[in-house]
Amino acid sequence: RRKKIVQECEKLMDKPDQIRNIAIAAHVDHGKTTLTDNLLAGAGMISQDTAGQQLAMDTEEDEQERGITIDAANVSMTHEYEGTNHLVNLIDTPGHVDFGGDVTRAMRAVDGALVVVDAVEGAMPQTETVLRQALREGVKPALFINKVDRLISELQEGPEEMQERLQKVIGDVNDLIRGMTDDMDDVDDWTVSIQDGTVGMGSALYKWGISMPSMQRTGMDFGEIIDLEQNDERQELHERTPLSDVVLDMVCEHFPDPLDAQPRRIPRVWRGDAESDLAIDMREVDPEGEVVLMVTDIGIDPHAGEIAAGRVFSGTIEKGQNLYVSGTAGTNRVQSVGIYMGGEREEVDRVPAGNIAAVTGLKDAIAGSTVSSVEMTPFESIEHISEPVITKSVEAQNMDDLPKLIETLRQVSKEDPTIRIEINEDTGEHLISGQGELHLEVITQRIERNQGIPVITGEPIVVYRESPTAQSREVEGISPNRHNRFYMSVEPLSEDIVELLKLGEATMDMPELERREALMEAGMDKDTAQNVEHIYGSNILIDDTKGIQHLNETMELVIEGLEESLDDGPLAAEPVEGALLRLHDARLHEDAIHRGPAQVIPATRDAVHTSLMDAEIRLLEPIQNVRIDVPNEHMGAASGEIQGRRGRVDDMYQEGDLMVVEGIAPVDEMIGFSSDIRSATEGRASWNTENAGFRVLADNLQPDIIHEIRERKGMKTELPEQINYL
Ligand code: GDP
Repeated sequence: RRKKIVQECEKLMDKPDQIRNIAIAAHVDHGKTTLTDNLLAGAGMISQDTAGQQLAMDTEEDEQERGITIDAANVSMTHEYEGTNHLVNLIDTPGHVDFGGDVTRAMRAVDGALVVVDAVEGAMPQTETVLRQALREGVKPALFINKVDRLISELQEGPEEMQERLQKVIGDVNDLIRGMTDDMDDVDDWTVSIQDGTVGMGSALYKWGISMPSMQRTGMDFGEIIDLEQNDERQELHERTPLSDVVLDMVCEHFPDPLDAQPRRIPRVWRGDAESDLAIDMREVDPEGEVVLMVTDIGIDPHAGEIAAGRVFSGTIEKGQNLYVSGTAGTNRVQSVGIYMGGEREEVDRVPAGNIAAVTGLKDAIAGSTVSSVEMTPFESIEHISEPVITKSVEAQNMDDLPKLIETLRQVSKEDPTIRIEINEDTGEHLISGQGELHLEVITQRIERNQGIPVITGEPIVVYRESPTAQSREVEGISPNRHNRFYMSVEPLSEDIVELLKLGEATMDMPELERREALMEAGMDKDTAQNVEHIYGSNILIDDTKGIQHLNETMELVIEGLEESLDDGPLAAEPVEGALLRLHDARLHEDAIHRGPAQVIPATRDAVHTSLMDAEIRLLEPIQNVRIDVPNEHMGAASGEIQGRRGRVDDMYQEGDLMVVEGIAPVDEMIGFSSDIRSATEGRASWNTENAGFRVLADNLQPDIIHEIRERKGMKTELPEQINYL
């Protein structure tokens, strides 16, 4: 049977109008995994009986234990819609925001996103996050409202109450979609509705579903469904209106095929020459064109080694091809190509444009790479709004494991670009930085269990930032030989500009004019925008000098010094963000030998750090939005858990039979939250956090925390005297 399905998929791969590349995205626990199992069972990939228990997509052991989906896994299936067979390539996305990077990458590979929302809970913070990630990539949404059985059996709602509730879910989701697509001129109305058939609903657990088209086809209406559900005749419900048919019909009917999607999506995600042959190949999904593969995920197969999975935007990928990998020199040779079936890889001869391919041999590729048969402008870097906020040290228990541990850490950072790894081969103590406590826990467990390397981990440490809060005076930076001087000032960048930079929407890679316009639109004045010399992280260097001899040939060193001094801010050697640095003037030695790296880099560092201190630089700490759902009697305990952590409760309201507490708290204080909230509420609370950027740490806490970090890093603990404002 499996072989037959593979053959069927291979046939369909050449018919782009019969292909749908989709993702299912949801807030954690809303039922994405259960729904996915239904689809696989419906397509004959797993047995109907085990759907819902098998959790086929959660292939990693730790995912099954935790009951959450972490790695984006891929699976292809076929579905007959209106007499024509379709190939549906489904990319799994993680539900927990700690793993937000994976969601964005999965979206790059697909053209449609089925957003799953729990009928009882309604749209939740991560519903908003995944919608935003989809829309930003030009991916079209549809809605599936899950757990409708609970409205009927558990909450005993009548038809009117139910209708009201479902309408509210649809309305909330549409408000989000409208807000996010307002300024997108390449998108028509993407709101969803029951009438259009872009909304489906049902029960993934009991395997039934309905939509407007399905009601028309089966003749079943809501009243009948309520009757059957109330009388516990779920088997009949499933037989008469199976969920997988309803959802896969919706996918085939409403999601764009690659021919329809690529002309719209390519300009969103690729900034190369729109008139070039390559651009045409990609817009036309041309299987004869140059090969272009966007890698969205790197996985490991115990036998085949590293597997790069991604979307083929043009050409046909085959064994033996030598392909360029963006960001690296030279080419890699394709060893095999395959497609995914229920999480397992099946080798095939070739994968043409419009499909998802699993490729081995691309040893230099990382998640996010552009792989192509000609050298080309790579795809836009995938936007990560969430930056690492927490760090943990890992050491091998056994010195003999050191090489294997280093290799594994390198691998981990290839698979998950939201992880940052610092390898220290001398001490053997490596640092992993990630999106949250859980994220790091998952990674270290994987190293221990999958790789069999026992490790010792340190306490989680929060990552801070340093940022100027005022306009500095013009200060002087002097080189060790005193012959080179730089005159600089610093001012804080506006929040809008910082966000623009963090999203990668103004970079040195883009054409100057485009960058200037983006910065001016975010509020930068014209003269400043014209003089942008360099962008580093969310900091900008402005060159306001005129006609200084030798400056051009020295600029590269200035930039090197600038980057170094921004990596290690003057307070506690944490990264600097949100600084606009102006170079006003410079004195350079005539003779190149006296203005080499050993002179210019320290001089720049002196100018940058002195001006940052004059700009009253302060420590920023990462914060998280926290949402807790609890029974009424535990509400006080839940809000106390937020307030007791230097947090703030912003809202408390009733939803269904539970109370919702929403607030905000520093990441530092959130360490250990999961066990505390469990004991404070007798385990009856469910909760979620979402990184919400950085904010200035309260002034009275600054000196102690700075001291602590300096001590930990082995720096001098006394602060430079210019920091007297603290
Ligand atoms: P995911 O985190 O979005 O992948 O959610 P899961 O598929 O793991 O489901 C979370 C929980 O909700 C599990 O206990 C499921 O059994 C349950 N669940 C999923 N779908 C339904 C449904 O339609 N009705 C009910 N009553 N429970 C469901």
